[in-house]
Amino acid sequence: MPVPKNKYPDNWREFSLLIRYGRAKGKCEICGAENGKPHPKTGSKTFLACAHLDNTGGVCTCYKTTGRKCAIPEHVVAACQVCHYNIDKEYRVFKRAYREPPRNSMRYKVFISTILIGAGNLLHFVL
Ligand SMILES: [Zn+2]
Ligand SMILES: [Zn+2]
Repeated sequence: MPVPKNKYPDNWREFSLLIRYGRAKGKCEICGAENGKPHPKTGSKTFLACAHLDNTGGVCTCYKTTGRKCAIPEHVVAACQVCHYNIDKEYRVFKRAYREPPRNSMRYKVFISTILIGAGNLLHFVL
């Protein structure tokens, strides 16, 4: 999820390294692809990231409730780019469609009502 660096904890770098190479031993915890080796599915070089499980239905709601990313081991997964993409897919699709902040935020609600009102006006005009 594209989030500004200052929304991450101060120890994020160490935490992320610990998860990726300590806990996950340099392998994707979802599909097992090895960091730096060709990915079994795509053949491109595997790049591990420490990903928050904070998509819809995910175990980590820290970012939604506090506005900051957490450093809680149970809330993250070491994921290759393919699995990371799948985790973030819903959010990306949403971003692409609206180019606006995540749903449930006030700005999003205002944004959507603006579109609906706009569409209503347009419909009125066309008819
Ligand atoms: Zn993977
Ligand atoms: Zn969390």
